Amino acid sequence: METLFYKKHYIWEKINKEMKEEVFKVAGDYKKFIDASKTERLSVNEIIRQAKEAGFKNFKDQDKIKHGDKLYYINKEKAAVLVVVGKDDIEKGMNIVGSHVDSPRIDLKQNPLYEDHGITLLKTHYYGGIRKYQWVAIPLALYGTVVKENGEVIDIAIGDDENDPVFYITDLLPHLAKDQNDKKLSEAIEGEGLNVIIGSLPAEGKDDEKKFKLNVLKILNEKYGMIEEDFLTAELEIVPAGKARDVGIDRGMIMAYGHDDRVCAYTSLRAILELDSPQKTAVALFADKEEVGSNGNTGMHSMFFNNMIAELIATINNGNYSELLLKRALENSHMLSSDVAAGVDPTYPQVTEIQNAAIMGKGVSLVKYTGSRGKSGANDANAEYIGKLRKLFNENDVVWQTAELGKVDQGGGGTIAYIMANYNMDVVDLGVPVLSMHAPYEIVSKTDVYMTYKAYKTFYNNF
Ligand code: MN
Ligand code: MN
Repeated sequence: METLFYKKHYIWEKINKEMKEEVFKVAGDYKKFIDASKTERLSVNEIIRQAKEAGFKNFKDQDKIKHGDKLYYINKEKAAVLVVVGKDDIEKGMNIVGSHVDSPRIDLKQNPLYEDHGITLLKTHYYGGIRKYQWVAIPLALYGTVVKENGEVIDIAIGDDENDPVFYITDLLPHLAKDQNDKKLSEAIEGEGLNVIIGSLPAEGKDDEKKFKLNVLKILNEKYGMIEEDFLTAELEIVPAGKARDVGIDRGMIMAYGHDDRVCAYTSLRAILELDSPQKTAVALFADKEEVGSNGNTGMHSMFFNNMIAELIATINNGNYSELLLKRALENSHMLSSDVAAGVDPTYPQVTEIQNAAIMGKGVSLVKYTGSRGKSGANDANAEYIGKLRKLFNENDVVWQTAELGKVDQGGGGTIAYIMANYNMDVVDLGVPVLSMHAPYEIVSKTDVYMTYKAYKTFYNNF
């Protein structure tokens, strides 16, 4: 009778001593990756650095492409694609794992700098679905890219080196927070209240009207050659300061900024870097702008992936391009939309329907449909495709579970799955369960990280 029941397992129940060591090894490597990847641009940098080290070549430099070639493609420094060319013709379809490398954060406004009561601050506009009250009174770092009028590009990174200063958004003291305490949680901190402290000393010398702001500009000018107008042509991001840390006395979990979705980016990166000679062409896709709807030329609604595959087909066929081959290549493909799932939080179990929710440590989470209130906006993967994945994972000891994003009518969300499904390829969401998603620091289980990497590698090698 036992086998008639479906039962989920904790990964720990199914692994031996060597695998436990492997779990901690992968987790350690992941922590280094995420510490180097605080923004979408830095994530792409780190992905390409590791790809080059593993022998991947710039796709744009290739005249001929053949089976076994390992290629990378960068789209505007914020999105990337890695390809390992398979034995089968590409029009038979690719095995694609697609994640996103942008994470919720606080962007600087175009003209951000001002002084008020002896403090110099930066105006901001938050990016993605943050709960604003979580981002005040914590150490923050400043990252980004400034383009000067002469075209020179300056990279800025302040706040993560232990000798760096950090930045800070203030909150009210409890003694004077009566009015704020009476507000709804979602309204207690306003968007225009996320002002970041960047300085508090006046410039020396004559008694200028804006000498506090001037002092910050002088420091920026000395360090980076910047003038205030350079802020207009910059992309500067405020993110939590600090490195990834183990959580718990047994070190079973990792706390870091940006697990959503850099944990799926890392596990798919690791899987594709270890590939040698796959039957089907393997693709790891690292998109930008998922957290704000996948728009813009680096988001998945952009044609960049479509165009890149068109170029790939043309190069494989010695310059002969056929639109029909492109359509076949995309339509015959299979994709794992690799994004994080909401894990069951023991402190807030009431928002999830436990039988259909991801349990931390019970494996990589397959989400058939996302959407909200009646599956609105969902991709809703086909049972036939999930059936093939089920067989593949069960035969290869991939510990997996199905998951849904919370109780029906409690909320919802989406990923890049529905966009890729427009090519008529089979797509399903599959990724790491996370606690405190979109908070400055999120939590994952090391076992789930390992099992997600194993799932992607199995998919590339055997699907
Ligand atoms: Mn995500
Ligand atoms: Mn997200």
